[in-house]
Amino acid sequence: MEPIRIELPTGLDVGGVNVYLFKQPEPVLIDAGIKSEESWEALQFGLAEHNLTVMDLSRVIITHPHIDHFGGAGMIQANSDADIWICELGAPWLTETQEMWEKRLAYYKEEFLIRVGLDEAAANMILAGMRAIGQQSETIDPTRLRTFPPDGTLQLGGAAWQVIHTPGHNSAMTCFYQPENKMLLSADHLLKTTPTPVVERPLSSPHRIPALPLFMQSMSKIAALNIDAVYPGHGRPFGAKYGLDHHIIIDKQCSRIQSRKAECLTHITEGTHVPAQLVDKMYAHHPPQFRFAGLWMLIGYLDLLLADGAIQQETVDGVWHYYPSS
Ligand SMILES: [Zn+2]
Repeated sequence: MEPIRIELPTGLDVGGVNVYLFKQPEPVLIDAGIKSEESWEALQFGLAEHNLTVMDLSRVIITHPHIDHFGGAGMIQANSDADIWICELGAPWLTETQEMWEKRLAYYKEEFLIRVGLDEAAANMILAGMRAIGQQSETIDPTRLRTFPPDGTLQLGGAAWQVIHTPGHNSAMTCFYQPENKMLLSADHLLKTTPTPVVERPLSSPHRIPALPLFMQSMSKIAALNIDAVYPGHGRPFGAKYGLDHHIIIDKQCSRIQSRKAECLTHITEGTHVPAQLVDKMYAHHPPQFRFAGLWMLIGYLDLLLADGAIQQETVDGVWHYYPSS
């Protein structure tokens, strides 16, 4: 059974977010949208079109703990008997949302934004934006939270779907794959436009997780699957069934990443060594207030170049500097 797409508004730059409904054998929702009145109304309207209400939902399964995907889950939980499910890797974000968010903000403030060489005004602008976004969610009652392993199986729409862990945009990202019907719920891993490799607070080691190299590895996993239809977290479904083979999108995104990585190396070779200045070169076409996503992507290119052995990192006066490997 094909998942039914319901698009919910987010009020964020990303535009709408998709939640997917399986009606049978029991109503299950994939993702929950953001916490806002507009989103809540759109969800009720979307369900009503299929003769359902929020109260009918038996489960809500979250693909990854980003606010546009889980922020509304608390509202659904409060208005139904639905359990909320998420991969065990992402569970703390749902039960200790504010604490996790504060810790990430602290890492950005005390460590990351200083290391990349941003001045205080730019850093404060980024932190204020993040703080505002953090408000758009509600904590989940942990007694009604269920977790699944990153290599587990989920029953959706009367079929068994494989959980595929695809870290990159988010380290707890999970896609769901149905091999017999060749369907992929691709969350924010595979979208028509490349998702940004979000910089996360290091958890178990002092080193930051290299998100873009992980994203590339996750992409190889997805490229190896036999898929007819892709149901993404944002935008319309695609895939061979819809006349746009997912391999075309994957190849395009991977070659764009390779060519931007090469551009980044050229700037470093020509004498730009600090991430904040590299962002200004690589994203000169974006106004400064929109360069934050560019910073995440740039850190990704640096991580790829480091993994290639093409550059090395040195910390000078508390700021990361990158030089071509000799
Ligand atoms: Zn998203």
